[in-house]
Amino acid sequence: MLFLGQLRSRRQLDFDLRDAGAPMLQNLNRLAGVKQESLPVDGTLDHFLGHLGSSPLAALRSEMMRRLIRMKALDDARLMGHFVVAVDGTGWLVFHQRHCERCLTQKHGETTVYLHYLLEAKLLGPSATALSIGTEFIENAPDRPSASLQNEEAKQDCELMALSRLAPALRKEFPQLRLCLTSDSLYACGRALTLAQKHDFRYCFTFKEGRLPSVWEEFQRLLSLCPENTLRVTLPDGTHQIYRWVVGLSYEDSERRSHTFNALECLETAKGVTTRYAWITDLRLSPTSVVAIATKGGRDRWKIENQGFNVQKNSDFNLEHPYSMDLEKLKAYYFLLQIAHLIFQLLEVGSLLRNVARKVGKSPRDLFGSLRNIARRLVEAFRYFRLPDHVFDPAAAASIQIRLTAA
Ligand SMILES: [Zn+2]
Repeated sequence: MLFLGQLRSRRQLDFDLRDAGAPMLQNLNRLAGVKQESLPVDGTLDHFLGHLGSSPLAALRSEMMRRLIRMKALDDARLMGHFVVAVDGTGWLVFHQRHCERCLTQKHGETTVYLHYLLEAKLLGPSATALSIGTEFIENAPDRPSASLQNEEAKQDCELMALSRLAPALRKEFPQLRLCLTSDSLYACGRALTLAQKHDFRYCFTFKEGRLPSVWEEFQRLLSLCPENTLRVTLPDGTHQIYRWVVGLSYEDSERRSHTFNALECLETAKGVTTRYAWITDLRLSPTSVVAIATKGGRDRWKIENQGFNVQKNSDFNLEHPYSMDLEKLKAYYFLLQIAHLIFQLLEVGSLLRNVARKVGKSPRDLFGSLRNIARRLVEAFRYFRLPDHVFDPAAAASIQIRLTAA
């Protein structure tokens, strides 16, 4: 409720929920299947999370994702049978004094800041949803030997090192699932390609000349030798796209491992301006697949930034707020936030609220005015109404199908 109601800080629980009167306690008791005589204060929540730790909440997130996948709610977003998972690093917490022994440090002139970053994997679902499916915290080992100041930053944990932990963890949680990773050009490197192969992920990574210069040169040379690998598309708004591709490029990385993949570029001209996009991928390229790969596998990657990080940081989810000071509890709050955002996205774009809004000819967001208002109404519903028994019936809930695309 802290995150679903977008209360912004833990102490707000005591004002917005706790003293809100009888319906709130009754409703939450029935939702949780408990018989508490009063609602916990914010310190009780924090204490409880200290006992619980973060991993059961990470496991709950996985279980919720498995349920959505099983009920085929996300199938419309598949790319050639695969779910597309965007992987990207982001800043999480910033402190001006050392916060814990795992903080990353960054020097700005004379001042040092203490940081926590994380590497997120978000499944790109239908209707522009971005659902958290994997997280690795980017942090230093507590026993890391203190390096000389010069080498301090170089030896710290980083996005690509975190990928070496994320890839096997994601595969372990979802052993059979067909997944395609999409990411920026940082990932077009030996480490990421080896991990994708080892853990049976397909991939589609941004291809930039500067990241793989010799492969880029070979790509450009081969493009002119296979003019038949071309597809021209004109969109209804007049935007013109030329797709060109090469199959079977080879690359030997710095550890002498060899990799073979395909490369695809899209030259897009809109309003007289031409932009070039390019990717390397192990998906099969053909005139019938390149548009879907470039769109769902490549260009939709921005959704992890917009629908994921931006919403969570700039809305009342308040991702960068330190909900606790203890690192393990902070991670527990992080997973709770991801779970709440998952539920919130289902609420926002799912068929249940959409059908209600449609009766008055509106979208859910227009009906309520903003996402924040949806959160507020949710809290108000719990606060002022004794909700009917059937809404808490798990058997009835099991038969509800949520669809994320317009029927
Ligand atoms: Zn720290």
